[in-house]
Amino acid sequence: MKHSPGLLICEECGAVYWRIARPSGEIMWRCSSKVKYGKRICQHAPSILDDDVKQAICEILDMPEFDPQAVKKHLECVRISPDGSLTPEFIQRKYMKMIL
Ligand SMILES: [Zn+2]
Repeated sequence: MKHSPGLLICEECGAVYWRIARPSGEIMWRCSSKVKYGKRICQHAPSILDDDVKQAICEILDMPEFDPQAVKKHLECVRISPDGSLTPEFIQRKYMKMIL
């Protein structure tokens, strides 16, 4: 499963999230600056399970199952806040702003 780079953005520091496989085989999303520099730069960014991210995006887009094409089409990015909630930014919103 491939995601477009920069789909998940850390709200605390503005860095992209990286998709990282743990030795256990679990796939996690982690703030890249937290991975690189530690808590010095980014203190509260949560690590999120890949499955949880997919499930949340399915709910956001009202999809029965995860569809990377639909995600690409509709989502500009998803912001991860320090409390672990996901805030989607839709691509359409930009067009609406331009029209208005
Ligand atoms: Zn961060």
